[in-house]
This record gives sequence, C-alpha cells and structure tokens, in this order.
Amino acid sequence: MKRQFRRVLPWAVAAAVALPSAFAFTTFGKRWPTTSITFYTGMPGKSPAGLTWSSAFQQAMQQWNDKTNVKFVANDSFVDPCAQYSRSQSGTDFPAGTGNLINSIDFRSTVCGNDFGNSVLAITLSNSVAGNFGFANFVETDIVFNDRQTWDVYDSARKFGINDFRRVALHELGHALGLGHESSVEAIMAPRITDLDQLQADDIAGADSLYAPQDLCPLIDLAPNRLVRNKLDLPDCRVNQLFGSGSDNSFVDVYRLKLTATTRLVFDMRSSELDSVLVLTDAKYSQLDIADDYAGTCNARLDRTLAAGEYRLLANTYAVPRKCVGNKGSYTLSISDGKLPTLGDSATTSGSAAAVLVTGGATADGGRTYKTAFAATDSIAVDAGIAVDPEHVGLAGKLFVLVQLGDGSRFVKTATGDFAPFSGNLAQLQPARSGPLAAQESLSIVKDLRGAGAGLAGQSFAVYVGYAIDSQPQSIHYGSEPIRFSINR
Ligand SMILES: [Zn+2]
Repeated sequence: MKRQFRRVLPWAVAAAVALPSAFAFTTFGKRWPTTSITFYTGMPGKSPAGLTWSSAFQQAMQQWNDKTNVKFVANDSFVDPCAQYSRSQSGTDFPAGTGNLINSIDFRSTVCGNDFGNSVLAITLSNSVAGNFGFANFVETDIVFNDRQTWDVYDSARKFGINDFRRVALHELGHALGLGHESSVEAIMAPRITDLDQLQADDIAGADSLYAPQDLCPLIDLAPNRLVRNKLDLPDCRVNQLFGSGSDNSFVDVYRLKLTATTRLVFDMRSSELDSVLVLTDAKYSQLDIADDYAGTCNARLDRTLAAGEYRLLANTYAVPRKCVGNKGSYTLSISDGKLPTLGDSATTSGSAAAVLVTGGATADGGRTYKTAFAATDSIAVDAGIAVDPEHVGLAGKLFVLVQLGDGSRFVKTATGDFAPFSGNLAQLQPARSGPLAAQESLSIVKDLRGAGAGLAGQSFAVYVGYAIDSQPQSIHYGSEPIRFSINR
C-alpha cells in the first residue's frame, strides 16, 4: 500500500499570470479504478453563513460531477477520517496506521495525530495499491480540515483571516482524484488558495485525463462474429499514449465496438509471440473487465453480456514480458456472440492466413448447452457458423464439412445432405454448399443423431468446417479445432 498526503496553503501573493494556451495540470500516476467515488460527508456542524459543512462539501462534490466525468457519491453518515490512523513516530507527514478503506471528512486539530504544519488549511490522506495501465489505484482518501483555522462558506474574493471551506473542499477533492498542484495556469489546484472558487479549465482537463481520456490512439472498428489478425509492434500506440500519462509503455491496439442490443460476447486473443491481455472499457476508458492467461495459457478470454452502447476493447500485452514469452508480434482477436463455441484460430490448407471465425458445437438440448459427450439415447444436433473474411464476402465459394470418426474413417457432407466416404484427397472434396459467400454462414450439419440403433454408440467424432473461394480452390479456410464429441455406449 502506498500512502501520500497533499496540503493546501493560504495567502499566497496573487501573481498576475498570463494564461498559456496549453493545459498544465499535474497528476501522480494514481487514480480511482472507477469514476464513481463515495465520500461519507456527515461531518457535524454548520458555517457562520448557515450552510452545514456537509452541504458545502457536497456542493464541492457536485461541481466536479457537473463539470467532469467523475461521479462523487455522498453518503450522509459520519465516519471518522482518522479511523485507524494515529500519530506517527516523527509526528509529521503521513500518520501511522492503514486507514479503514472509507473516504470521509472532518475538522481536526491535528492530521490524525500528526502536526498540520504552518498555515496548512487541510490535508488529503490517500492510500493506493498497484493498478493497471501504469497507474496505482486509490483505495482510500480522507480529508482533514484544520480546525485551528477560521472557516466560513462564501463566494469570490477571499476575506482576510476567514477561509472558504467550499473552495478548499474543491481543491482537496482534486487531490482525492489524483491531481497535484498547478501553479503555471489559473487553477483550483493552485498550491495556495486564491480568489477562485470554481473549477477552472485546467482542473477539468486534469480530471478528464484521468477519468475520461480522449481517443488518443487510432480506433479500429470491431463487430460481433469477426476474427481479426493484427500485431502489437511499432508504430502502434502505447498505453501511456492512450491515457496521456502513466508509466505503462506496452503496445496497445484500441478497438471500438458499438452494440445496438444487449449481447453476450466472447472475446478471445491468441498469440504465439506475445502474452495476450484483453481489457474491456466503456467509451471513456473506464475499465469493465480484464483478462490474462486463460486456462493456464498465455491467451486472453473474456465472456461478458453487454448492454447496448459503445465500448473499447484494448488488445494489450506487458511492458516487460513476465511468465509468458514476448511483448510484441502478431495475434488473432476473435469476437463471437457466444451462441456457438469458437473453434480455435482460423487455419488454411495453403498457409495463407485469412480473417475467418469458425464456430460450432454439438447439443442435445436445442443449443442451450454444447457438450463433448452424449448418452446413446440423446438426440444430438451439430451446428456450425463461419464468419467469412470480409474480403471474401460476396465472392463465389464453397462450404465444406469433413467428419472424422474415432476409427479413422472419414466422410464429407454433400450438397444433397448425405455423408459420402472421403479418400483424403482434397481435390476430390465435395462441397456441402456452393454459391456467393455471406458474411455469416450457418451450417446445420446433422439433426437428431442417435447412438442407439445407428451403431454409433462408443464412437467419437471430429467435425471440421471451412470454405474456399472459387478463385483459390486449393486454399480452404477452416477452424484449427474441430467440433469434438463422443457417444457413450
Ligand atoms: Zn493541495
């Protein structure tokens, strides 16, 4: 756990500063992992002006909510900000203890036992743990206001000797978000309190850099039921370019996904050259899910049901390879609607790799579940889908279904729906269907297959599906894994 505190000082001489055109906010590589941050605001008492301190603090929260992507949430209960903190040995800087993982506020004469120091109005204590994308993640931020100072709540110009609680809260909330001090442009995050009582453009830009990053890397559009071939390598974006800061310089490809309805999606990233990491975020890069090392491999897999809306999918790897080899090279990314299991990578009989997603499975319950072992009395259906390489859609082509039994015998499905013995000579492979290729081809391979009575009990099956375009008949694109199942005796 890393710990930090930030303080604001009063009474700086107001220097006349010309506004530079560029933003100049500072951050510390720390942020909350989500945009929703709850503070327990129920500190007692009210200001001489009549407003409760709690309400004034909530108004400061509301300013951040209104002007940035941050959503501070107020809980009206009181929680001691110094809970599980106490005076440290030195009595200065960060107090001893680990906090209680609750964000809360109050007036105190000391910083949870430690000295406030000269002219310090308030201090934000923060605890953080290691996070993603080169940022540490806050787990707790508490704000302690110095009750040896004189306080009220008012607008605009400072009153001599009386501090405006609300603008100090605004400033400390900036620290709680991960913003540092900014002295080169007008900002609430100035190191000393000023006549400003509203968030400035630089403060908003700072919060947005942490909680609503712009699309700083090129976007690649992605649709369900696709397989994409790509690589992570120069000149790709790096994570610290994507987020505008942070220490993570690993390569990243950024995919944009737009869904018009609630959809279950299975994302699968595979590579033999790099350690695959998949990160799903909303359109403002707030993380929804992350996947790494699926089932003991170096591949990444995510299975999520997503509401309609826009998302980002980050194909990523490590800045420094860890337990899996490599951090640059080619990968495949598949995105399927999850109705049928994905049948591996797309392979080809000629060696040229196309972007084909092959799915398929065997079911005895109408597609609710796909299984690999069935009872002899089950009524089995085998279904497959091929998301054709976009470059092949509309071209004349042929779909193929090849079945290999456990005893080594092989059959192809023919255009009449029969299964004919197959010699193994690809030139003699008969198509199950011929014609122009659709973006998504569906194949009902068998229906109502029963082991009992058909002499198939005890048999195992491997079903390969694929297609070729008529102009390249020798290059059949198929799923690298077959549909495998067996029928028990
Ligand atoms: Zn400060």
